[in-house]
Amino acid sequence: MPSISPELLARLKSLVSRDRLVRDTVDLCSVYSRTGEAGPALDRLAEILTRDGFEVERPAAGHPQAPAVAVRLKSGKPGPTLQFNGHLDTVHLPFVPPQVSGDRITGTGSCDMKGGTAAAVEALRVLRDCGEFTKGSILFTGHDLHEAPWGDGRQLEQLIRLGYCGDAVLIPEYLNGCIPVVGRGLATWRATIRRSGPPVHEVMRPKDQPSVIDAGAELIARLRQYATFLAGKNDPVAGSETVFVGQVHSGEIFNQYPQELWMEGTRRWLPSESRHIVEQEFRGLVKQVADRTKTEIVIDWFPVRDGFQLEPDHAFVRAFQDNYTATTGKSLEFGAKPFCDDCNTFWSLADIPGITHGPNAGGAHTLEEWVSIDDLCRVAHLYAATAIGYCVA
Ligand SMILES: [Zn+2]
Repeated sequence: MPSISPELLARLKSLVSRDRLVRDTVDLCSVYSRTGEAGPALDRLAEILTRDGFEVERPAAGHPQAPAVAVRLKSGKPGPTLQFNGHLDTVHLPFVPPQVSGDRITGTGSCDMKGGTAAAVEALRVLRDCGEFTKGSILFTGHDLHEAPWGDGRQLEQLIRLGYCGDAVLIPEYLNGCIPVVGRGLATWRATIRRSGPPVHEVMRPKDQPSVIDAGAELIARLRQYATFLAGKNDPVAGSETVFVGQVHSGEIFNQYPQELWMEGTRRWLPSESRHIVEQEFRGLVKQVADRTKTEIVIDWFPVRDGFQLEPDHAFVRAFQDNYTATTGKSLEFGAKPFCDDCNTFWSLADIPGITHGPNAGGAHTLEEWVSIDDLCRVAHLYAATAIGYCVA
């Protein structure tokens, strides 16, 4: 059912404007928008959409410094709502201004994910202008607070709670090698181990005082045991659950008895697990070490995203897959999602199917970001075709 005619596919393609895509991507990338400070970039996005004749809403969604952007394209007839969702915040690195050279746009945010967001905007225009979007609706949303650790996804969570949520969602992040059907949830944690009393020379060490370094070593050993247990919780596609220690710090010089040790790392879990149970289990294990070593251990726990799952037989997934094949002549296999993204939030909070699929792009979270202009055109075409396949066909 979801396949659309070759004539319509060709017409949708002819409506995709490469010039507009370049203009909008460069326009969005010219505004520096570190996570938490994406207000001016969202204002720019709202200007682009308003200039194009769309009615733009600006829900604050708990982050009034950078109100989100929402547009609804309604066919006027009942049918499913397909959402296109993008974040305009970028990681906290120095700003690299946009440049166009050959097939590439470079600069901060070009890959992650202002290019992809511009492609979704272009799909919105194509759907409005094609005259064939005759059932259902499109909800386009853009927001801030995506990139961890500066953001925690709270603005999107609030948008979903406020009803800015479709029946299925497409997210144009820089991933297009497979259709992710499962992904792990993620939290980062920091453990601070303290003893009472000030730092002193080692020979002045009070006899009754525990060693924070010994306690740290014990915690690391305990976490290694825990990691072995977690390795047994395995999904053939997503991999195993993990606990990981990324850094450990204590002490100032070789013969001073330190007062504090801290370490931090990650915990990843499968979608069958809830973030609350995972946190409780971690805290319980740390408490045992604190009790045994007679230290105080404070845990700071930062949930990033819940796990993610996608039902491969859903009509939306079939519409996407069929139109991918129709527009590229290739098929797209199912696979794992290597990172957490906003599809995880849509799945855990709203229980809707989501597909992460964006342009060929690279250098995310570095100073060397780039996106392919040809592929932005492909994504805009695919998004428009999928919308017709899912909502109308
Ligand atoms: Zn991103």
